[in-house]
Amino acid sequence: MKNRLNILLGGLGLFALQGCKAPQGGQARQPNVIYVFPDQYRNQAMEFWGQEGFRERVNFRNDPVHTPRLNDFARESMVLTSAMSNCPLSSPHRGSLLTGMYPNKSGVPLNCNSNRPISSLRADVDCVSDVFSGAGYDCAYFGKLHTDFPTPNDPQRPGKYVEDRIPAWDAYTPKERRHGFNYWYSYGTFDEHKNPHYWDTDGKRHDPHEWSPLHEAGKVVSYLRNEGNVRDPKKPFFIMVGMNPPHSPYRSLDDCMEQDFNLYKDRPLDSLLIRPNADPEMAKAESARYYFASVTGVDRAFGQILDALEELGLDENTIVVFSSDHGETMCSQHTDDPKNSPFSESMNVPFIVRGKIKPRLDDLMLSSPDIMPTLLGLAGLSGSIPATVQGHNYAPLFLDEKADVVRPTGALYIQNLDGEKDADGKIRSYFPASRGFKSSHYTLALYIDRDSRKLVKSLLFDDRNDPYQMNNLPLEENKDVVDGLCAEMGKVLKEIDDPWYRERILSDMIPYGE
Ligand code: CA
Repeated sequence: MKNRLNILLGGLGLFALQGCKAPQGGQARQPNVIYVFPDQYRNQAMEFWGQEGFRERVNFRNDPVHTPRLNDFARESMVLTSAMSNCPLSSPHRGSLLTGMYPNKSGVPLNCNSNRPISSLRADVDCVSDVFSGAGYDCAYFGKLHTDFPTPNDPQRPGKYVEDRIPAWDAYTPKERRHGFNYWYSYGTFDEHKNPHYWDTDGKRHDPHEWSPLHEAGKVVSYLRNEGNVRDPKKPFFIMVGMNPPHSPYRSLDDCMEQDFNLYKDRPLDSLLIRPNADPEMAKAESARYYFASVTGVDRAFGQILDALEELGLDENTIVVFSSDHGETMCSQHTDDPKNSPFSESMNVPFIVRGKIKPRLDDLMLSSPDIMPTLLGLAGLSGSIPATVQGHNYAPLFLDEKADVVRPTGALYIQNLDGEKDADGKIRSYFPASRGFKSSHYTLALYIDRDSRKLVKSLLFDDRNDPYQMNNLPLEENKDVVDGLCAEMGKVLKEIDDPWYRERILSDMIPYGE
């Protein structure tokens, strides 16, 4: 009952904030929500960042990509310049997205595979979809999930994993682990982009042999049209779409659409890898053509969903978000690791929100755990945000630039690695290898030794004056800056009960308070 009252008040609050009148003869209709998040899609890979109205607001050059639909969408939306994936790796981000918690509490500190029983989305907490479901929404999940520990539960081959290699990465999520999603068309993780597969609501497997983002867009459009009577048209809907591209491998036309590849195939690599910190001589450089082709294909798939919303008259009352799980270094920073680092190519993700919001840009440093409470707030459900949520609800700021909201001073950076293994080779703990803090001015990351827990490496960049992070500053020559960042980092690590706080790691540098 309390929940229902909160939902009602929350819904009315949304309309009050916007100065809108609820429709006559009844309460305001709850908005639909669609959250689209491709994988490994960096914020820089959107063409509009180079266009008037946007380029003056960021200190990086956009990648030379063609994203016509996102360009138009951004002009109708609130666009964040500085949204961060705190633990820029697939499963940990997704765990935070779904639970509103940091990886130390979400159940997902590491990428999920069958060797890591300690990394699996918690069944005992309310996820964003549980809350929407409880508020009367139909909830649908499409595409890549990658938050479950794979178990031998293949619905077509009882007693077996859904893939034969071990460790198994892909997973089937049974009904009892779907957290309020009553429509399902999903898989764990699988990288044959033109040969994807999905398990539907009833566990039936589908192998559509179509480039996965376009296939998923088609399924979403079908859901919106309610083909097959898959949703209750009287209910609002909450849809999440986890597209896998622009994910690796980026090496052939098996990975992207040829029409998109043709836009990039004849361009010299140094005209594609234009960031000053990129090295077009790296072995991976050829991948840039496929990466950007995948970006353009995702743009088209996203556009198909937008077109269907308009055609069905649903665009007015639907909040649409475009984001990603983390970025991709793509030959920047001389690393082959596309993610899991504090570099802006890895951490800075798209975050664009359309629907009942005045179009504008904002430099809010949104963190992964903030997404769940903010989505709920935008839908008028701020009263239903579970107490377990560690992130903050920034919905008031989306609705009113001048809202009385305390902005974050930055975003935490988190890198976890495998910890101890048991006799069977299963990972039983995780090693919190690095913590850092990214403010609007600086990026700091501190790395520790596994055994001594002493500092072994640091990264410190003056992002304002060195936006491509080419000059790693020595900590000792920048003591005031480091002290300031460590003070902010210590506060957040304590607030979220992180292992670094619990073990007082580097307490000679990081003030943890009591
Ligand atoms: Ca990922």
